[in-house]
Amino acid sequence: MEQNHIVWHDVLITRADRNRLNNHKSGLIWLTGLSAAGKSTIALAVEKELYDRGIRTYVLDGDNVRHGLNSNLGFSPEDRKENIRRIGEVAKLMADAGVLVLTAFISPYREDRDMVRKLFDGDHFAEVFIKCSLEECEKRDPKGLYKKARAGVIKNYTGVSAPYEEPDNPELTVDTECCDIDGAVRQVLEFLSEKRFLATEYTETTES
Ligand code: ADP
Repeated sequence: MEQNHIVWHDVLITRADRNRLNNHKSGLIWLTGLSAAGKSTIALAVEKELYDRGIRTYVLDGDNVRHGLNSNLGFSPEDRKENIRRIGEVAKLMADAGVLVLTAFISPYREDRDMVRKLFDGDHFAEVFIKCSLEECEKRDPKGLYKKARAGVIKNYTGVSAPYEEPDNPELTVDTECCDIDGAVRQVLEFLSEKRFLATEYTETTES
């Protein structure tokens, strides 16, 4: 759609200003992995830890977003792409507003995840692969969805009747078969600390 009459407004307050005010860096931590790999569990537990440390956070979660913002989208490749695009754009707005956003979406296509990555400065984005074998995910099956997918009740189910493309170069991989929930959460927190996302360690160097 051509919209040449729409002009970007320069702002007076930037993300960097908001990050200074909050004393922590904002950005997007994108969790990807099979259903039942542990994305939501880890994202919510990490958020709780961050909240307790005074960091402004928000978790965008698969099912919740599909109830509202993306309620008109299904699970075809095109709709999955649009689902991810909208989430990326919303997360970008939230990160600009000073929030550290965690997302918990299967996001099975590399190309779609790369599209979101491109919306962010490298320093403010990380892809976290929540790794777990299909066998173990099916064993967990907390919502009984794999069972339904195997029975053909649910179509286009990632891992069963739709592909999952593992990340090539994720900033972090958390293997949830090798560690328990606490261990997984600790790994993410250590990573966030290393990448200077945590309060008190935040110093702005390159942004205006
Ligand atoms: P997803 O968001 O990836 O679909 P969920 O977080 O909804 O996955 O479900 C993961 C299930 O696996 C939960 O029942 C959780 O208790 C269990 N689980 C077992 N080990 C781990 C682990 N190390 N990390 C995260 N979840 C785990």
